[in-house]
Amino acid sequence: MKIAIIGVGIIGSLLMLKLEEEGIETIGVSLKSRTPWIGLIQSLLMKFPEDIEMAYRSRRLYEKLSRELNQELLRNYSSITIVPNTKLNIIKNLMKTWSNYGIDVKLLNENPTSLIIRDHEHLVYSRNSDALVRIDKIVNYVWKHFKIIKKKASLTFHNGKVCVKVNNDTLNTDYVVLCAGAGNRKLLKQLGLELPLITYKCQSCILYGKRLITDHIIYDYSLKFYTRPLWYRLPYIVIAGNGNTPPLDPDENDLKIEDWFIKEIKEKISKRFRKIHYIYGRAGFCETTPDSKPLMGRVIHNLYIIGGFNGYGVEIGPGLIDEFTKILLGKSISSYGEKYLISRFSNRNVLTSKLPESEAHEL
Ligand SMILES: Cc1cc2nc3c(=O)[nH]c(=O)nc-3n(C[C@H](O)[C@H](O)[C@H](O)COP(=O)(O)OP(=O)(O)OC[C@H]3O[C@@H](n4cnc5c(N)ncnc54)[C@H](O)[C@@H]3O)c2cc1C
Repeated sequence: MKIAIIGVGIIGSLLMLKLEEEGIETIGVSLKSRTPWIGLIQSLLMKFPEDIEMAYRSRRLYEKLSRELNQELLRNYSSITIVPNTKLNIIKNLMKTWSNYGIDVKLLNENPTSLIIRDHEHLVYSRNSDALVRIDKIVNYVWKHFKIIKKKASLTFHNGKVCVKVNNDTLNTDYVVLCAGAGNRKLLKQLGLELPLITYKCQSCILYGKRLITDHIIYDYSLKFYTRPLWYRLPYIVIAGNGNTPPLDPDENDLKIEDWFIKEIKEKISKRFRKIHYIYGRAGFCETTPDSKPLMGRVIHNLYIIGGFNGYGVEIGPGLIDEFTKILLGKSISSYGEKYLISRFSNRNVLTSKLPESEAHEL
């Protein structure tokens, strides 16, 4: 069996590694995207049970990969979550589930931090739920060691199956897997197909401030932002983002940070940490689904997809890839994996261009 992997970014790289483990031959076709060297968040503090399970499994898989590649891919961090009164009961219920996964999480009665907290807000402290993952090291490893055609792919029908075209050449593979992130929609369109996928721009930035907390990840569900340490720790510096942007078609020439984003993030974060300065920003394109969870499964003939990861591909990617690989191998998947099947959208008119109100990994 030979599988063409279209898009070797975060998911494509992890999938190629998994398929190699299963003894399956792959060929990647991908444009290279910029993978940050800062470490991306991998947290178990999710709200859907299937996401918590996938994040838990992903953590174990990153640990295994770190040992196999003999590299420090993962660094653990404690986190502080700011919760408004309106979400207190939700978080109290989630804390029970999180504890079942061995997470040491507690509601604080006092504020031992430098954060400015208001009367209607609460602090949740978690000791072993969060990590930063050097996904760039994984992607770079795969690009170096696997067969990848570094070109743009397109899709076409040929003799009743889907084939990949690169320039004028057609690749001869048994299966085609789409994991081109925000590029998936365009590729599907080439076959006259559409799935409930919505693309948008996701932005984050580096901030400087004397009161910033640089050794914890902060999730603020009251003002709606997060901050995280840099992998290489520098005094008074964090990365921050908010995740809220309108739907937008991907354009790799438009990776600039929007002025409104800088203004908004500065306003929000100075409410917690007083004076801060914007240093540098970075944007990328993501895709989501109407219920904000990824989708996976067979699309048509020999074409499969695993996509729609919005802002949490690193968090649950490896766990979901394990389930997806079972589908490719014709094996049954777990009840957790079933929650991500494309078939969940089959009975409803779900083709929409509206973004879900919050992302799956946000409370
Ligand atoms: C600023 C920012 C911060 C983020 N922070 C986090 C975080 O902390 N934690 C987390 O879990 N997630 C985070 N995310 C989200 C995460 O990046 C996505 O969930 C993840 O990238 C999805 O992986 P993917 O492989 O599906 O897509 P991508 O990583 O986008 O990879 C898709 C690949 O396909 C290629 N491609 C597209 N079209 C074609 C084509 N026609 N032919 C060939 N190649 C093609 C692209 O060039 C790219 O290399 C962040 C995203 C951004 C933008």
